[in-house]
Amino acid sequence: MKTPRSLRTYCPRCKTHTDHSVSLYKAGKRKAAKQGERHQARRKKGYGGQKFPLQHNQAKVSKKQTLQLKCKECSYTLQRKGIRLKKAEVV
Ligand SMILES: [Zn+2]
Repeated sequence: MKTPRSLRTYCPRCKTHTDHSVSLYKAGKRKAAKQGERHQARRKKGYGGQKFPLQHNQAKVSKKQTLQLKCKECSYTLQRKGIRLKKAEVV
C-alpha cells in the first residue's frame, strides 16, 4: 500500500483537522540492560533452555503495519490501527 508523506486529518489535541506527517511504526532496538532482558537471561541461565515455546511455523505471510501520524502544528503523535499488508510504503 502506498501512503502520501503528509495528509490532513483530525488532531485530538488541536481538536480540528490539521496537516500530519506520515511515517511507518518501527519497533525499538532491544537493549541488553533492560529489566525484561535481564529477567530472560536469568531464566535461561543454568540447566534447561528456552522457558517459553517459540513459534517456528508461521501461518501468516504478512506483517501488521502501523502508520504513525505527527501533527505539524502541535507535534502530537498518533497511530493508526495496524492492518495486515505485505508491503507498506510512504511516497
Ligand atoms: Zn495538533
